[in-house]
Amino acid sequence: MKEDYYALLGVGKDASAAEIKKAYRKKAIQYHPDKNPGDAKAEEMFKKSAEAYEVLSDPDKRARYDQFGHAAFEGGGGFGGGMNMDDIFSQFGDIFGSAFGGSGGFGGFGGFGGGQRRTKGSNLRIRVKLNLEEIANGVEKKVKVRRKVQADGVTYKTCDTCGGRGQVTKVTNTILGRMQTAATCSSCGGSGQLLDKKPSDADAQGLKVKEETVSIKIPAGVEEGMQLKVSGKGNDAPGNGVPGDLLVAIETEDHKTLKREGDNLHYDLYISISEAVLGTSKEIDAVGGKVRIKLEPGIQSGKILRLRGKGISSLNGYGSGDLLVHVNVWTPKELNKEQREFFERMRNSENFEPKPEKSDKSFFEKVKDMFS
Ligand SMILES: [Zn+2]
Repeated sequence: MKEDYYALLGVGKDASAAEIKKAYRKKAIQYHPDKNPGDAKAEEMFKKSAEAYEVLSDPDKRARYDQFGHAAFEGGGGFGGGMNMDDIFSQFGDIFGSAFGGSGGFGGFGGFGGGQRRTKGSNLRIRVKLNLEEIANGVEKKVKVRRKVQADGVTYKTCDTCGGRGQVTKVTNTILGRMQTAATCSSCGGSGQLLDKKPSDADAQGLKVKEETVSIKIPAGVEEGMQLKVSGKGNDAPGNGVPGDLLVAIETEDHKTLKREGDNLHYDLYISISEAVLGTSKEIDAVGGKVRIKLEPGIQSGKILRLRGKGISSLNGYGSGDLLVHVNVWTPKELNKEQREFFERMRNSENFEPKPEKSDKSFFEKVKDMFS
């Protein structure tokens, strides 16, 4: 019995496209194989969520699913076999922004002999850990990767079986008559080429592991679990094939005092009662160093100061988030005699009475504003 796609993503049947996308994004990050190495259950959930999203993100498929359930996809063109990892990662393109995922595609390579596809080397996967500064402004990282490359002195020759076409034609007799089918050549695996000469330290495909430094440009605004692709920096393919890609999974480090929420950053500032009453100036943490801010006399606890553009640069390239400073007034727990007398005297002072103005929005209204 297959699980309900809505339940898998944790959304209701009336969820909007944006809600479905958001829910899937969360699941994809939670069950990402790079975050759960060797965890078969997480991998299964990762695949199941991707399958659910594949259906629910397509209005046509979703409508069929709503009407017929899983039966809508049984028989032809179903999802019985599930999706493979590369399908899932290519789906990330529209989930995490255009800089990520994408299958690339090799349509541009004509090949030779007509219709022959060049084989592609396998992909390599690495993880890169970033701190908040690097995320906020984008960064170029140099990483060492161990790629398989064609060994020096290796030569390839045209495959005799398929004559370099990579495909063989089979003729079979059926009740409908003679049928001609094309199949991938089993001698060369479709590449049209075979290993001719190789040095002794190369593997059966003529490849050899080599350590290489690859420079990766990471755009500002990336998030944990995103994947970036560096084309052509995976393993080489034998013969005249094209190399695979280097897939870079993003990991993020927490900051000591700044908390990230989308492109915005939050900072909790604590001031004393005297500072709140008299006004003050304070240094606070920001991306790239400290920033001094001024607090007007009479500032209220719970006030949120917005430093525009001091957040994270947006991944889509449009502007930056803000740094939101939450003002907390620290109330002393112990007082000496003199202080106690002072506050006793102030207890009934008229201007110590709370008189919230209309402009002093309640905490809940401010939170509502912030996320709307
Ligand atoms: Zn062949």
